[in-house]
Amino acid sequence: MAFQNPVIKELVNKLRVLWALDHASALMGWDAETYMPREGIQERAIAQSELAVLKQKIILSPEIRRLVEKAEKQEDLNDYEKGIIRVVKRNIEKALKVPPEVIAEYARISQEATQYWRVAKEKNDFNIFKPYLEKIVKLARKIADYLGWEEHPYDALLDLFEEGLRTRDVDRIFGYLEPRIRRILEKIMSSGKYPAEHELEKIRYDPDKLRIVNKKILEILAFPLGSRARLDESAHPFTQSMGIKDVRITTRYEGFDFKRSILSVVHEFGHALYQLQIDERLMVTPIGNGVSLGIHEGQSRFWENIIGRSKEFAEVLTPLLKQYLDFLKDYDAEDIYYYFNTVRPSLIRTEADEVTYNLHILLRAKLEKQLLTEEIKVDELPEIWNQYMEDLIGVRPRNYSEGVLQDIHWSMGSIGYFPTYTLGNLVAAQMRHHLLKDMPDLYEKIRNKEYRPIQEWQREKIHRWGSTYAPKELLRKAFGEEYEAKYFIEYLEWKYLQ
Ligand code: MG
Repeated sequence: MAFQNPVIKELVNKLRVLWALDHASALMGWDAETYMPREGIQERAIAQSELAVLKQKIILSPEIRRLVEKAEKQEDLNDYEKGIIRVVKRNIEKALKVPPEVIAEYARISQEATQYWRVAKEKNDFNIFKPYLEKIVKLARKIADYLGWEEHPYDALLDLFEEGLRTRDVDRIFGYLEPRIRRILEKIMSSGKYPAEHELEKIRYDPDKLRIVNKKILEILAFPLGSRARLDESAHPFTQSMGIKDVRITTRYEGFDFKRSILSVVHEFGHALYQLQIDERLMVTPIGNGVSLGIHEGQSRFWENIIGRSKEFAEVLTPLLKQYLDFLKDYDAEDIYYYFNTVRPSLIRTEADEVTYNLHILLRAKLEKQLLTEEIKVDELPEIWNQYMEDLIGVRPRNYSEGVLQDIHWSMGSIGYFPTYTLGNLVAAQMRHHLLKDMPDLYEKIRNKEYRPIQEWQREKIHRWGSTYAPKELLRKAFGEEYEAKYFIEYLEWKYLQ
């Protein structure tokens, strides 16, 4: 039994209804992105926001708050029990600090802003989006002040997406990464060993053939399709977990550049594996979920980049690819490897390679920080974006749509979210480092399709705990350190500069 203390047991029991509401809205969210008829969105949005209000009511009910207070006074609690208190208390405090009308206003403005962002992007006109972004930045700052912060208002927003993450962590990480990544990028570009472009990016494929390939790849990875998992299609690939025994991933078929579809599958597989390997005793409780976006992204990037973009995995995939994709008949595993690993300074974050990706995040984190403190104004944003882009990555957007308007996130009110992507890249490389110590033949195993031992290792170190430990604590427990940037640089040097 994970939970023994009677007060904790009572609390977990009382919170089952909250879990059930989360379960329902997860399924509704998955459905909205996959099979729902387009116009259903209007009623679905109302249903979702009503559920959100109901969830707030439950979490703030006197009964729950009394139980949490009582639980805190209990002695000799085990780590799972402490985890329950930490997670529930965190939710209560967040809900208490920000007035509900401010949350409602933020939701309303974000919804409007997203609509105008779409138009602005399509028309390449920043002015259409500008007034909404101004409102969002102002409200985000207001929310940060309600939540409270000590060193920087950005701290309060970062913590919403990654428990315990601070501006100084972000500054330390990017301060370390920036010069090193730029140096590595320069060397890669001048050596020419890794191509900037590959002819396979342009070749069109038959989606039906690639659907079969993706299913076969998931079989090789031992993904429990049918019994505990599904693969579907959506405009943007994502993972949605309904619980430990029902985890769903999606990919997309654009008709060209087939690696995008395949690597999305492998990426989402990494997210799904985390959810599938959580200790079953944590099922239907507040800690039966991945602990944070950064740790989650670490799992997906580990499978996508560390494994999915390795030479050994290219060897595994090549015969399968050649069987279904006729245009590959003159290509070998080495070609596929280089096709999977093109490196070039580019404008669009979502298309960036693993070398330049974090520079795109750095740019956004820097701007978010400065917007919150009004060091820069929304007015100046497009010009500053272009300047930073040129300074950091060496390319300059020709228009707003491929510059400041490229991402949907700010329009949705997600400020403080982007850094979790970089944390994911760091955690993936950190896992690789520690896994290699425990499993020196890791790459042999990848070549031999022995993925279970790798997954078992992940289960032991990270997955099984769910949200029992806060992210930094989990990393300390697993690896004796917190977010650590050096392994990512070591990985890039090993892979690209040898
Ligand atoms: Mg992801």
